[in-house]
Amino acid sequence: MIKSITGTKDILPAEIPYWQRLESIVEKIFSSFNYKEIRTPVFEETNLFVRSIGEETDIVGKEMYTFNDKSNASITLKPEMTASVARAFIEHSFGKLQPLNKFYYISPMFRQERPQAGRQRQFHQFGGEALGSPSPLLDAEIIIIAFRILSSLNLKDLTVKINSLGIPSSRENYKNILRKHLDDKKNQLSEDSRKRFDKNILRIFDSKVELDQEIIKNAPVLIDFIDEESKNDFELVKALLKQSKVPFEVDTKLVRGLDYYTKTTFEIVSGKVGSQNALCGGGRYDLLIEQLGGAPTPGVGFAAGMERILLACQNEKSLNLPGEKIDLYITRVDEDLTQKVFELAVYFRQESLIVELDYLGRSVKAQMREANKLNARFVLFVGGEEFKSKKLILKIMSTGEQKEYPLEELNEIKSFIYGEVYKSYPNY
Ligand code: AMP
Repeated sequence: MIKSITGTKDILPAEIPYWQRLESIVEKIFSSFNYKEIRTPVFEETNLFVRSIGEETDIVGKEMYTFNDKSNASITLKPEMTASVARAFIEHSFGKLQPLNKFYYISPMFRQERPQAGRQRQFHQFGGEALGSPSPLLDAEIIIIAFRILSSLNLKDLTVKINSLGIPSSRENYKNILRKHLDDKKNQLSEDSRKRFDKNILRIFDSKVELDQEIIKNAPVLIDFIDEESKNDFELVKALLKQSKVPFEVDTKLVRGLDYYTKTTFEIVSGKVGSQNALCGGGRYDLLIEQLGGAPTPGVGFAAGMERILLACQNEKSLNLPGEKIDLYITRVDEDLTQKVFELAVYFRQESLIVELDYLGRSVKAQMREANKLNARFVLFVGGEEFKSKKLILKIMSTGEQKEYPLEELNEIKSFIYGEVYKSYPNY
């Protein structure tokens, strides 16, 4: 039997309402902050990710799905979206159209990681990127959007962690200080952290190894060494978050793995999803566009993992969707009326009513069982004495009441059902 590839998952019909609810919240909240949706290809030139994310990162070093296509070009399935948005931004000269451009996206991503709960090889992210202003207003805005989306899902056990990475020159200076501090303890570090010591020393803070954590516990922290401008911007971000009632804590050890970050960086973690607890992360990346060959353009953004968010919703039972209903079930009372029932179903489906009928030649009793199982609001009976006298019976399932309609007045039935369905959506 052929099975789905390790680390990938089918999203089955029963789960789809949750995905759709999440997607509609994402669309609504981003739109209210005037972010516009962007969709980019699933694969890109490998070089885009190597140059933006950085060669020494886990993503580029070991997680990318990279292959040569038939013309021998190196292609990579996108492991994250910021690089693709940056590429599209440069390619379509967005910076020349208007000084500030705000994008959001919902898209599958691909990383060859060790699969576990909340960690897949194909997963989905939504996120936003604001390109064109160094203002900390946008850093705060991005964090507020992320927090608002998660709060709209009724998630409670959330912690917003923020930090500032400063600009590269202050960071380089700090890296030397950290290297000096750790130099005589280097041999006690795990193998991974020893590698990071040489290549990407900040990432030692991300180590999950207890002894590594013990060793870096008392190390100097980056925030004490960042430049004045970064410090002032960070103060403003904190003030804006406070004013917008977003609870946060400063985590001086939050460094994140990607090379292109500058200044503000943040993560939102959930206490309800086990070890893979980061629901979203992001920050400022003022050098990325220039690094990719565009005109200098500051940017800030975040990405959120949709599987993990839905896992948190499930664990907190925070997303109670009402039981799904169909609007109308058409019951075939007489066997020779199959074609008529089919015609009626096609007719009623015109107004986007959700209509179902029997395709399996079932008895009237079995059809009614099916109508109940599908939570039908109305059942239309086609056949029997009524049909002979050119009438149809409509049953209102919530009350049991039955209404009689002349066969030629289908429009009346449709208007009645439509009116009732419309009434049941107070926010429609
Ligand atoms: P990153 O792009 O690594 O900053 O990740 C942003 C968010 O995407 C994380 O906080 C996770 O929620 C989610 N994420 C990252 N990698 C995976 C993965 N392999 N499987 C599921 N979700 C992921």
